[in-house]
Amino acid sequence: MTNKGFTTNIVHHDHKDKLTHGAIHRSIYTSTEYAYDSAEDLAAVFQGRQKGYTYARQGTPTTASLEAKITAMEHAQATVTFATGMAALTATFFTLLRQGDHLISSKHIFGNTNSLLMTLESLGVELTLVDATDAKNVAQAIKPNTRMVFVETIANPGTQIADLEKIGKICAEHKLVYVIDSTLSSPYLSTGRKFGASLVVNSLSKHISGHGNALGGAVTQTGLYDWQDYPNIYNQYKKNESNTWGLLQIKKKGLRDMGGTLSSDMAHRIAAGAETLALRMDKICSNALALADFLNQHALVSKVSYPGLVNHPQHEKAKIWFNGLFGGLLGVELKPEIDVFKALNKLETAALATHLGDNRTLVLPAAHTIYYEMGPERRALMGIADGFLRISVGIEDTADLINDFERALA
Ligand SMILES: *Cc1c(COP(=O)(O)O)cnc(C)c1O
Repeated sequence: MTNKGFTTNIVHHDHKDKLTHGAIHRSIYTSTEYAYDSAEDLAAVFQGRQKGYTYARQGTPTTASLEAKITAMEHAQATVTFATGMAALTATFFTLLRQGDHLISSKHIFGNTNSLLMTLESLGVELTLVDATDAKNVAQAIKPNTRMVFVETIANPGTQIADLEKIGKICAEHKLVYVIDSTLSSPYLSTGRKFGASLVVNSLSKHISGHGNALGGAVTQTGLYDWQDYPNIYNQYKKNESNTWGLLQIKKKGLRDMGGTLSSDMAHRIAAGAETLALRMDKICSNALALADFLNQHALVSKVSYPGLVNHPQHEKAKIWFNGLFGGLLGVELKPEIDVFKALNKLETAALATHLGDNRTLVLPAAHTIYYEMGPERRALMGIADGFLRISVGIEDTADLINDFERALA
């Protein structure tokens, strides 16, 4: 089935497993615990010698089915799902890094991830934030205790694009774990494998589910990294091939110790949403490009950050890497003389809300909301102006969207 297209693979994924009654979806398994006919079987499942489920915190057939779909989308080896994207990131960092280890991260990252990295730092992980749009900055930051490099494909909210390919080569050379957060591009625009990622993180709450009705996260292992080169793998997870060890540790320790498990109900919703990922992304990306073009020429807009615009610093790379698409997120800076709240209150179609990757267009005045807590000094350092809008473009009819912003800015 893998030689078929992206959407064909996903929509026919479950029923090819010959489910009972010819069901086309995998059932929502609500059991907390799974029972066995013999004590030998129970023990074998616990010990990983036999396939099966034990306690739903460690996963269910429903989460496993979603994991298989995400693995197929990423052309990867295996996936573990979590309750949210943040739970996926937390499990990855906390199960693979130890006190005294050095982590290199892009400085252009989602604010909540930045907050998580500061927690890691307070617990003794050494952190260096670099401008990852140039791989040289990553290479220069490497030290003997460096274990991992973390970047986002397209950064939330600034849309900077990391030097994905070259960083992959540097990580391979230095045997570093390369973690890519692919949330803003989604596996439809590009797989992490293409850039040499060891692990790919996707917030399933965003594009993959798409309908603003489910939270989830996933960590996918590409199989490209040989965990024999990684010092922090516990002996009990060193079974089977050595390119499988890391994700086994994330799954076992991450779900057990932190308990951020995806529920079967949410896994089902996300899987249903994922069936239209390609269709939604095509529309979202063409809408976003049209809106970016419109706003970029508007007299009351001082700056539009969107990888699809030729003035975006990584436009040429984005064109090659993301199948000719540029994602759905726009960073828009209104001229200082504009009353941001007044303009936003005039929007009729776009919703005033946080979140991204939804079917609906969502707009947020970043300085007054997601970046409010950090205060004016840090905002100034990060270049978040008072008039900065984060726009997550949806699947609405293009003309309605452009008219909406035209009216709001009139
Ligand atoms: C939203 C987001 C996350 C976190 O995902 P949640 O499902 O909201 O926890 C992680 N990374 C990026 C880039 C995001 O946009």
